[in-house]
Amino acid sequence: MKIERKKFAFAPPPLAHLCFCNCTTCVINVLYWPILIRCPFRVTCVCGKGIFKTGIIHLQNFLPMRQLSKTVRAMLLCCSFFTQIHVSLTQTPVFIRASVPNEITLTAPEDSIYQYQSTSVYNNATTIVHFEDIRDHISNNLLSFQIPGTYTNLIVEPREVESTDTVHYTWSGIANESGFFSITNRENLYAGFIQTDSGAWTILPLREHYSLLLRHDVSVLDTVDCVMEEGESAAEPPDYCSEAYNICPAVIDVLLFFTSEAVAMVTRYADANMKALTMDGFVKTLENSVNFAFENSDIPNKRVRFRWIIHNPGYSSTTNIDYLLDQFVSDSYVSSALSSYRADLGIFVTAINFSNAARKSNIKLLDYPSSSHRHSVVSFQAMHTPRWTLPHELTHLLGAGHNWCNNVPCSNCDCNNYDYCNHGYRFYAGGLERRTIHALGNERILHFSNPNVDYLGEPTGVFGDYPAYNAQIIRNTGCVVAAYSSSPEVKAMISGPSKLCGITGEFSSTIFYASILPPAQGLPGQAPYTVSWWWNETGVFTYQAPDEFLGTGNQITLTDVPACNYFTLHIRVRSDDGIYFTASKIIFTGLCEECQEERIVKTNNPLLSSSRQQSIKFFPNPTSGQFIAEFHVEGEPDDAMIFISSMDGKMQYDFGRHLISRGVNRIALDLSNLPNGFYNMHLISAKRKLTALITLQKNKP
Ligand SMILES: [Zn+2]
Repeated sequence: MKIERKKFAFAPPPLAHLCFCNCTTCVINVLYWPILIRCPFRVTCVCGKGIFKTGIIHLQNFLPMRQLSKTVRAMLLCCSFFTQIHVSLTQTPVFIRASVPNEITLTAPEDSIYQYQSTSVYNNATTIVHFEDIRDHISNNLLSFQIPGTYTNLIVEPREVESTDTVHYTWSGIANESGFFSITNRENLYAGFIQTDSGAWTILPLREHYSLLLRHDVSVLDTVDCVMEEGESAAEPPDYCSEAYNICPAVIDVLLFFTSEAVAMVTRYADANMKALTMDGFVKTLENSVNFAFENSDIPNKRVRFRWIIHNPGYSSTTNIDYLLDQFVSDSYVSSALSSYRADLGIFVTAINFSNAARKSNIKLLDYPSSSHRHSVVSFQAMHTPRWTLPHELTHLLGAGHNWCNNVPCSNCDCNNYDYCNHGYRFYAGGLERRTIHALGNERILHFSNPNVDYLGEPTGVFGDYPAYNAQIIRNTGCVVAAYSSSPEVKAMISGPSKLCGITGEFSSTIFYASILPPAQGLPGQAPYTVSWWWNETGVFTYQAPDEFLGTGNQITLTDVPACNYFTLHIRVRSDDGIYFTASKIIFTGLCEECQEERIVKTNNPLLSSSRQQSIKFFPNPTSGQFIAEFHVEGEPDDAMIFISSMDGKMQYDFGRHLISRGVNRIALDLSNLPNGFYNMHLISAKRKLTALITLQKNKP
């Protein structure tokens, strides 16, 4: 499908030799394009003495900028005679784009939600965006797109995927090594979130293929945080820190009680059917924020499953959260709903932003998880990105607690050592302060503290006298909490490692198990079960090619690495009474020798050199001018050009040639003379090319 046709005119390239041409093909300087391109596209090159060359560049699939750049770099050396290049580019649809004016006419209910979000003080910008099916846009296991309304290009590596059939799926991953992205498709209604260092967005469904992209204004969130009361001298809690690595499978069923006001913040005046579909997608996104955080934090075999209902009790209008929580705990309607939905936990979602505390759980510092602590209250505005109060309150009920007082800066922290490894963690990584889900503050990363898991090269927790290891307590209490109630629905998950091959790269045959959690007796989905195993590279399964069938049975043994650098392992299960259900697991293989060999071959070939393991990081980023560029390179030393270009591709600053050695290199650079904005830094040598985005913000500390 052809959606637009653009002409790009290039100024003379900033470097001496930037393109290459033969009789049929021109390769152009896409290195500097701030956009993502799909191919094929036609180019016409105007050579120095008026020689015109026309040809077609055909590149497979959807290639992000840095991959296109590789192709270009290989051609740089061959040509020195172009002065100008014109490109006619036929773009095929992109995964997400802003809708163009008059593309759709909003119905009255759609306009209502659009106007409501556009004028909300919680949003900086509201954009109507169009989504394509993600399956058409995953290439080399990666999803690449530009966030509409920004110059931010995301390259997302998968972490967590669920697909029940070909039209319902949730796909989540790590964006540009430090951000978080999740999309849920339910009947072509798209919900999700994006969190990066440059902003936080929520995606709300509007109609089929169209959603609202809300850019949040973090500064208006209140500074009041979660309240955890000091506990009485309770009985000595079980030692939930003791077990080394608890992998018992658990599904924690959570019932969300939305007030009508809170529902209206998602749907406004949509009709009942649209309201239900929209809320289902939004709630699935909330559910995914917890499961994604479990995956990020090495909490295997633990899942949450959300359902939602509307509840408008008389006490819902109170602005006193202590009173509200007390009433919610003793509400007989709530008790019977938790029972009839077989929910383990209940969370009240209110549109009120409280002045005395933003959200609260009925568990105290010295308490430990028990079925008498199963209620929380959250304010709608803070429950999702970038604050993640919903995963925060939910896991309080699993025993997770705030950061220590000595883990400064800190307010409302936990100051006493209870010999209880349940604390959140603040730390610095990538030049910014970071907070795990239980460290207090307005912006958090989707991680529970864990000394064994890194974020941008820094551990997300600590051992010792003041341990920060929320992941450990969640692993140990997940099965306790999941047992509060019998299960409403059968559930499967795949047990096994998320990574094949460690730092040594060695692969040995690995067994994966199907863990099936049956529902309560008498409900559909009973044992025995028939399990079939599959894998593919996109994570969305149709059970025909290119999906690969692996076998049947309760376990499967992988004797080889099926794909580099990621693949999705999948099971389709049939219960004795004919219910089908599925589970998926994304597995990273990038460190396996097989994949390393492939990478070395690629590195030797300049057309295909991989930059996956060779990247530039900046400290700080954003920078006020002076910064450190740190990059890790493989292979032999050589010398490289380092320069800065603006987003429209013009060279802005040439730092000259630098000797690049194998391993970690650090170079101090200064951009103080340039105006604020986004820039690409490039490192180009005969053997390698790296590009990374840096933000210059001179007026901010
Ligand atoms: Zn809290």
